[in-house]
Amino acid sequence: MANATAPLILVVEDEPAQLELICYNLQKEGFAIERASDGEEALLLAGEVKPDLIILDWMLPHVSGIEVCRQLRSQKNTRHIPILMLTARSAEADRVRGLDTGADDYVVKPYSVDELIARTRAVLRRTRPASVGEMLTYEDLVLDTERHKVKRGGQKLKLGPTEYRLLCTFMEKPGRVWSREQLLDRAWGRDADVDLRTVDVHVGRLRKALLKDGQQDLIRTVRGSGYSLDNDDS
Ligand code: CA
Repeated sequence: MANATAPLILVVEDEPAQLELICYNLQKEGFAIERASDGEEALLLAGEVKPDLIILDWMLPHVSGIEVCRQLRSQKNTRHIPILMLTARSAEADRVRGLDTGADDYVVKPYSVDELIARTRAVLRRTRPASVGEMLTYEDLVLDTERHKVKRGGQKLKLGPTEYRLLCTFMEKPGRVWSREQLLDRAWGRDADVDLRTVDVHVGRLRKALLKDGQQDLIRTVRGSGYSLDNDDS
């Protein structure tokens, strides 16, 4: 099974040496990688593998990086994926800064690998905090993603690995309603062959584990939609 907690990064760059350099260094840092060397491939892959972040070169043959960015933002299944743009010229950088591209951040070439990794982590810290070892809190819950420990009201909780990954997902975006398909992608990995009812079973186990001492139920079932981490009882 894929390591569901390692962030998956799609790297889009047409220069083979650059592509290799970026991928090598990201993998060394523990990221999972998919690669594309033109815009069309990038658009296909983005919809297919649902990366946690896309590193996207501005200058690409055929479909430009900027057009890829625009198309990613216009499609429902890729709209939310963070984009880190690689730009060569300051005029390009100005446009990215002006946010008319939809990119989340940008790095100007020539850049150092350290800078690229730092920017990658910074974007992930905002969008997938559990994946880069951040401490997550919600109400009286504390999740230490570095040491894989969970506490509620100061008391240690014992969670199975799947329940732990589900909780990571919930705590990254409290209040957000997750469909069972989305939870499956996150907690089991994108290639997993798992029945959606299995998601219900594990959410049920997580709910039970969190309620150990009769505290408030923080998992809300949203009929017809899925689940969320929510303190709203109504
Ligand atoms: Ca290029």
